[in-house]
Amino acid sequence: MHALLVEDDDRMAQALATALVQRGHTVRRVGRALDALRHVHEADFVLLDLGLPDLDGLELLRRLRTVCDAPLIVVTARCEERDVVQGLRAGADDYVVKPFRMAELIARIDTVRRRTGAPSGRSAERSTAGPSGTGGRSVRSGDVQVDLAGRTVTVAGLEVRLTRREFDVLAFLAGRPDEVHSREEILDRIWGDAFLGASRSLDVHVAGIRAKTRRPGLVRTVRGFGYQLGCPAVGDEDEGSR
Ligand code: CA
Repeated sequence: MHALLVEDDDRMAQALATALVQRGHTVRRVGRALDALRHVHEADFVLLDLGLPDLDGLELLRRLRTVCDAPLIVVTARCEERDVVQGLRAGADDYVVKPFRMAELIARIDTVRRRTGAPSGRSAERSTAGPSGTGGRSVRSGDVQVDLAGRTVTVAGLEVRLTRREFDVLAFLAGRPDEVHSREEILDRIWGDAFLGASRSLDVHVAGIRAKTRRPGLVRTVRGFGYQLGCPAVGDEDEGSR
């Protein structure tokens, strides 16, 4: 596979390129947003540093997404959750915060490639072959309707666009709405890597689901354990007390 590595830091770029080549990939490294836009069409996947000299990384991400739908992982020193959420909303498939372990980044690249390389693959199978007992391929909670087969979510009758993985998380919870799911279980099923258990990816995706649906109670936090599908009633609280 051919990687486009957008990174202006020479040492970081060298380390990443070496690791990618060792995994059998070819790499084009660019240090400026302009060159990223010029070469993105060649890429099978993209690693994107957000701190670039010539353009804000989030702006570049949005522009890249208008011309390319290759898997894209943000590699960033910006560790504030708001930046990460914005990155995911702008179309990133995943993110890694510097400093990171190379093995973790490589695992995430493999996971993202697997997921995006097989559009009718894992996530679709999960929906159609998911646990029975929901009485159909659609789950309703309050005024939120989750269509597991069609992969759509409507709130009060209006469709809400979630990212692929936000939908995967929501669909997983909706598939067994009566159960509380541990973080490890969700990370293992959706991310394919239980060892990512320490990552904040899951929380960021849950935050995205809550924000986009404007129904914070749709996903209930079970402190210190995991998440459950909630019932977004009027006046409900983010942290359910049940
Ligand atoms: Ca940088």
